[in-house]
Amino acid sequence: MLDSDAETVVVLFYCYQDSCAASLAAEQRLLGAELGLCGRVLVAAEGINGTVQGDAAAIAVYEAAVQKSFSSQIDWKRSIDKSNTALFPDFVVKEVNELVGFGLQGSEPLDVVAESGTRLSPQEFHSLLENPDELRLIDVRNTFEYDVGHFDGAIDPGMTHTAQWPRFVKNNIQDLKGRTVMLYCTGGIRCEKASAFLRRRLKEDGAEVSTPVYQLEGGIHRYLEAFPDGGRFRGANFVFDKRAQMRSGDGTVIGRCSECLGPWDAHHGGRVCTVCRALVLVCDDCDASSEHGEYWCPEHSNLRGSYFHFLDRFSEKELQAQAQSLQLLLDKEVGTHRKNRRNTLRKKLLQVQDRLEHLQLEPKHGETTAEDAEVSVPRRCRACEKPYCQCPGVCWGFWKEIAQE
Ligand SMILES: [Zn+2]
Ligand SMILES: [Zn+2]
Ligand SMILES: [Zn+2]
Repeated sequence: MLDSDAETVVVLFYCYQDSCAASLAAEQRLLGAELGLCGRVLVAAEGINGTVQGDAAAIAVYEAAVQKSFSSQIDWKRSIDKSNTALFPDFVVKEVNELVGFGLQGSEPLDVVAESGTRLSPQEFHSLLENPDELRLIDVRNTFEYDVGHFDGAIDPGMTHTAQWPRFVKNNIQDLKGRTVMLYCTGGIRCEKASAFLRRRLKEDGAEVSTPVYQLEGGIHRYLEAFPDGGRFRGANFVFDKRAQMRSGDGTVIGRCSECLGPWDAHHGGRVCTVCRALVLVCDDCDASSEHGEYWCPEHSNLRGSYFHFLDRFSEKELQAQAQSLQLLLDKEVGTHRKNRRNTLRKKLLQVQDRLEHLQLEPKHGETTAEDAEVSVPRRCRACEKPYCQCPGVCWGFWKEIAQE
């Protein structure tokens, strides 16, 4: 697919536009095939978003062709890749309702072009950060991205996916009112919508004038180009392709291994939350010494030791302890906003009880102890459930290998 001798170009881009042509997806697929590209492109009635890789000439043709379908100038964030590897297994164009999954389209569609916050250039954004008083700087990415790098003093809304942004706004709008709010994300696309949503809520509260909302134009990507030493950004910029991150100049590692708390900031497709499958930072040493490879993200860290995906490696005694602690956790989750968590716990509790029943019915061959059960089951991939030696996490998202033909 990619010319293995030449370096390739990777472009990150998006464009919001009112009612895109229905033929956009088909045009994209054709372009991808004709130009021998790899990447991920989302198309919706509200616009386009993609990360695309190809040789320099092909990318130039691609950019010109895409620009023709949009009236505003697309900001192409290009980087040269010298690794000679395809950052995606193929070229996939997906038609979606929303470019960024807020779960709002339909109920209250936002006019992103008209409602989004004021764009600041990296330099303008940087100088506003010099006076942090009365400022609320918010990272609108997910926690697993924030954890490997973020701006000094930025708030992490604690999201595992973007659909949680409305909840954050609801819970924090009183604190935000009357302040200067600054949002940033990887390349700018999430801020466009997150800021539009926040501004609509502020307007409903009559606080839109007293609460200016700014967004970093071009995201961390453009900021790090303008401030190669990192500026006020610490750590690495997580990107959604096989590279997984782009380093800033200052080279500091701000991530922490969720197991040993040592410095670590490299995500890996085989190290995910056993509950929600979000990426979790786990260092190589901890991962190598883990028998089962089950980890917990910050949101599910209270389920550590109680909630496991694979139950067949546990003894009766261990399963009974799990059932007990799951029940205790379940009793603590009260209120309508905890409904999803209760469902997750209930489902697991049922699985544990089923497994216990199964063990009790099974004829016992000799005296099988807990230790025997543990060593007899090798580690498996959390996502596809294959033995880990066959799938060391390469089924996860952009780590997915090219399907054998
Ligand atoms: Zn560790
Ligand atoms: Zn999780
Ligand atoms: Zn797998």
